[in-house]
Amino acid sequence: MNKAESERLSSLFSQKGMQPTIHPDEADLVILNTCVVRQHAEERVVNKLHSLRTFKKANPQMLLAVTGCWVDANPAQMSKSFPYVDYFFKPGEAPPWQNIEDWRRAIPEKPGVTAYVPIIQGCNNFCAYCIVPYRRGREKSRPLAEIVSEVQALVERGTREVTLLGQNVNSYGQDLPDKPDLAQLLTALQATEGLWRIRFLTNHPKDMSLHLIETVANLPKVCPAFNIPIQAGSDTVLQNMRRGYRADDYRRLVAEIRAKIKGVALSNDIIVGFPDETAAQFQETVDLLRELKLDAVHVAAYSPRSGTIAAREMPDDISAAEKKRRLHIIEQLQEEIGGQINATLQDNIVEVLVEGREGEKWYGRTRTDKIVFFRDTADWHGKLVSIRIERTSPWSLQGTCEIA
Ligand code: SF4
Repeated sequence: MNKAESERLSSLFSQKGMQPTIHPDEADLVILNTCVVRQHAEERVVNKLHSLRTFKKANPQMLLAVTGCWVDANPAQMSKSFPYVDYFFKPGEAPPWQNIEDWRRAIPEKPGVTAYVPIIQGCNNFCAYCIVPYRRGREKSRPLAEIVSEVQALVERGTREVTLLGQNVNSYGQDLPDKPDLAQLLTALQATEGLWRIRFLTNHPKDMSLHLIETVANLPKVCPAFNIPIQAGSDTVLQNMRRGYRADDYRRLVAEIRAKIKGVALSNDIIVGFPDETAAQFQETVDLLRELKLDAVHVAAYSPRSGTIAAREMPDDISAAEKKRRLHIIEQLQEEIGGQINATLQDNIVEVLVEGREGEKWYGRTRTDKIVFFRDTADWHGKLVSIRIERTSPWSLQGTCEIA
């Protein structure tokens, strides 16, 4: 989401004739787009602001603005603590000096082959550990027609794959007058000529409906790869996290998706070391992952975020060393599972949308969101290519170009 918002900001300024620079000492305007999903990220924001202060002192004309989830409900208070910052504005909102219509319409002049398109901001769930609803506010969907025309404009400028973004995309449209849903939006986007692939994230296990799964199964442009975070495998921990489902609900959801969408790839997010998580409860997470064998797992050690329910009511009672130990166990398990899943692709031919080059190699993704590297002298940027897989690892695939 932050990446999408940074791109929108940068395209706005490019349209006004400004040039990007990576050197803050050359900049007339610096915007720091912040993330505070973990304590460490918040510390980095403060450190970065301290270093930007030096540039501001050397060049008092330079404007410094801060946005993203670090900006809380009280920018006036923040201004007192950081008087050298000229503007604070909340994530997803237009900068204070910006015309709102220009902001809504800002699209990069030269978007990438793949592009992020935010469809809903904020979240109405209050998971005990999460700061998002406090910083990004309640759910606010963009009108369906506005999203469709943005995707159309991106495709006209070369984009071939879009990823629809939201903290909970399954709630899309419920706050709009005619209550369109994600299935309707995907169906509308399927008709976009020149668009090859559609993805969406993040899903909430309690909100991902059977209707959505069936719709996706019938829309060829929608890629069979979903991120559905479970966060923990123990019902007690899930309840403490206020996630609103049980591990068995998740098992059923995975089974339904796999039955309806053949070859689907699923990824998951896990938090280890949530307050009170016992060794046995952690083991339930390990057992669930071993049982479900998902394609990818993003694992994070719990860190309390000031202002959340967990930070207020639940002592952070798992030691850092124990959190690290649990994190490694999940990482190792997933390395094994991911390695096994990817090994089944050995000698298969997969369709890759080529996004760019890394050193000597082209890279892109399969429809199931697996990253593939290959060498070839032709220019494959932005094209679909068939690749025969010759080497696999838990994280990526390598192959050679089979058919143009
Ligand atoms: S659903 Fe996601 S964004 Fe919303 S509160 Fe829970 S973790 Fe945070």
